Amino acid sequence: WDANTVAVVTGSNKGIGFEAARMLAEQGLTVVVTSRDVEAGKTAVAKIKEAAAPGARVLLHQLDIANAASVDAFVAWLKQETGGLTVLVNNAGFAYKGNIFGADEAQTTMAINFAGTRNLTEKLVPLLQGPCPRIVNVSSRAGLRSIIKSKELLGRLTAATSPDQLAAMADEFIAGIRDGTYGKQGWPGSMYGTSKLLVSLWTAQLAAQLKERHVMVNAMCPGWCRTDMSSQSGNKSAAEGADTAVWLALRSPQDFVTGGFWGERSNISW
Ligand code: NDP
Repeated sequence: WDANTVAVVTGSNKGIGFEAARMLAEQGLTVVVTSRDVEAGKTAVAKIKEAAAPGARVLLHQLDIANAASVDAFVAWLKQETGGLTVLVNNAGFAYKGNIFGADEAQTTMAINFAGTRNLTEKLVPLLQGPCPRIVNVSSRAGLRSIIKSKELLGRLTAATSPDQLAAMADEFIAGIRDGTYGKQGWPGSMYGTSKLLVSLWTAQLAAQLKERHVMVNAMCPGWCRTDMSSQSGNKSAAEGADTAVWLALRSPQDFVTGGFWGERSNISW
């Protein structure tokens, strides 16, 4: 690996994303750190530069994946600055803490974890370069298929063949919360879990779509990690959580795998 390989990591100002960006810089890649808050991003970049291999470049740009204007500005900047990317680690994610649950909150969760990740990715796919680009989606075991309590609903989710169909089902979930019928329809009481299930289902769709272009597209779960999201209560460090994401990002083209769900460097049945 060298600085000709460009890796973008979303939400890399802290937590698992920060560790993934640091590890990729250690391997000598050009790493694009992105952060909603530029000042937080600058602090992260200074630390990542200290760990980076000689020759590695560490760049920074503002990015809020749930804000269309921010995504467009980022994509335009990346095209100008590096011409494209080989690795995309979709790490940015959000979860409400405690018992907060409601239609507006579900909308916000979906807008970041699913719709935001999807929008950024679709805008970056045309900029993927090299013989074997990689997309790693940081999903979660909180979004296993088993969280869906209706066979009919699960059947429709797994039969969806386009991201628009998944987006329509996200809207069904939100509407079900709003009118109180979500449980009867088979949806779980987890906004975060549902958003991550959609991320994993969409990952499989995207993998199939990009297979001919030889893009490796995989989802992974970092495990329960000590980050702000878990209020620092996990049984793994953020770096341990980032390990499988980086392993997928740097996988040899000879070991081409796509459309999988991974944890601890192993394929997980989900
Ligand atoms: P953190 O809360 O520490 O970090 C989340 C990162 O995502 C931050 O950089 C945050 O930015 C960023 N982010 C949140 N919303 C947006 C947005 N709209 N646009 C851009 N960036 C955003 O959590 P983790 O490091 O733990 O989480 C990283 C990923 O791992 C997430 O996708 C999470 O769902 C997943 N995960 C985590 C687990 C865990 O146990 N920690 C378990 C399973 C999955 P900001 O600093 O501005 O808030």
